[in-house]
Amino acid sequence: MSEPTRIVLEADEIPTHWYNVVADLPNPPAPPLGPDGNPATPEQMLAIFPGQILEQEMSAERWIAIPDEVREIYKIWRPSPLMRAVRLERALGTPARIFYKYEGVSPAGSHKPNSAVPQAFYNRQAGIKRLTTETGAGQWGSSIAFAGQMFGLDVRVYMVKVSYEQKPYRRLMMQTWGAEVFASPTDLTGTGRSILERDPENQGSLGIAISEAVEEAAGRADTNYTLGSVLNHVLLHQTIIGLEAKKQFDKIGLYPDVVLGPCGGGSSFGGLAFPFLADKAAGDARAKNLRCVAVEPSSCPTLTKGAYAYDFGDASGFTPLMKMYTLGHDFMPPGIHAGGLRYHGDSPLVSQLYHEKLLEAVAVPQLATFEAGVQFARSEGIIPAPESCHAIRAAIDEALVCRESGECKTILFNLTGHGHFDMSAYERYFSGGLEDYEYPAAAVLDSLAHLPRFG
Ligand SMILES: *Cc1c(COP(=O)(O)O)cnc(C)c1O
Repeated sequence: MSEPTRIVLEADEIPTHWYNVVADLPNPPAPPLGPDGNPATPEQMLAIFPGQILEQEMSAERWIAIPDEVREIYKIWRPSPLMRAVRLERALGTPARIFYKYEGVSPAGSHKPNSAVPQAFYNRQAGIKRLTTETGAGQWGSSIAFAGQMFGLDVRVYMVKVSYEQKPYRRLMMQTWGAEVFASPTDLTGTGRSILERDPENQGSLGIAISEAVEEAAGRADTNYTLGSVLNHVLLHQTIIGLEAKKQFDKIGLYPDVVLGPCGGGSSFGGLAFPFLADKAAGDARAKNLRCVAVEPSSCPTLTKGAYAYDFGDASGFTPLMKMYTLGHDFMPPGIHAGGLRYHGDSPLVSQLYHEKLLEAVAVPQLATFEAGVQFARSEGIIPAPESCHAIRAAIDEALVCRESGECKTILFNLTGHGHFDMSAYERYFSGGLEDYEYPAAAVLDSLAHLPRFG
């Protein structure tokens, strides 16, 4: 009898609680710090986040209930399928079993709505009418546009000007879901106006867009700010991925030996890996030799080449300081085609677990990720997002090691999104126009010299 290749759950099997890894950390997390080096106060954060989000951000409770209203929206695309990549296994000639959790089935095409939906929900509960955010490539902006619409909230997206002009389809998705999208810098905020005064042709940056979105949220009582990765509450929401995957593996009586995911701000990686780490923390024999591996681009090697230190979350130094692996907040990663992985820092939770050697990390070069993505598309059919291609590369490499050793490992990776809006990156790959960037050691060293001196 052949083993199942598509493992699905019923809608009523969507988990009822998110898992909070803070409950199982060997050491308490380092607190975020304000600009003066003292722990950031809840009052500072309440200007831009609702109380329930802030509570989750600081919670040490192991299980946090998912509101029924959120589970109802999740049902539009969840539970997401767990798939076995049998054709890829055959193409590689590996004895390993390769599984992927496919998050590209969401309306926005990635895992990001898993957190956008609860964020919109808690903001509406708190009486908030409008949400702001920034977006670069448009993945988070489209997720929050969709989620805001589900709960009747107005959404304003500050989209980095160069992306606004180069990525009209993501912008149109946001507008289709009713969001207002502005090319940042705008003349709507003090930050934007002062930049445009000095430089009317400014093409924008994620740092500027964050500053604009935060400024607007801080200045209006009916408006809050939302962030799509890095923070503890975002990772908490994303654990729906790993919790479902565990139920799916239970159904077929298997358990992964290796769990892999692309890692930008760390939300999808933590979301898949943490529920498996919970088994390890609980002494589950199946998880004894489990390895969880974060996969990052070698051009932006935050975990593998960064420093573990307090740093700002944004380029302009507006956010509280977080203890995390960082390449320095003013590090400008090369313009690789996995926009979601071009972040100088990483989730403080992923960083701490990596520092305590409970997670591993590996960096992979751009060309090899597209090679893996194309091989995956040609064997499994799904065209992966460039970010997801990083995990596919590492999963294939694990499977190739098994081909040599004859080991029959079970490999699980996170297919975080489809690549339908990234076809121009594939075009560059096919035409030979993509390049590998060396680890920018000098730029990283330079940026690390500017780390804030706290902690
Ligand atoms: C945003 C994004 C990522 C990276 O973000 P994380 O917070 O590290 O998960 C990965 N894959 C896709 C498809 C994305 O949109």
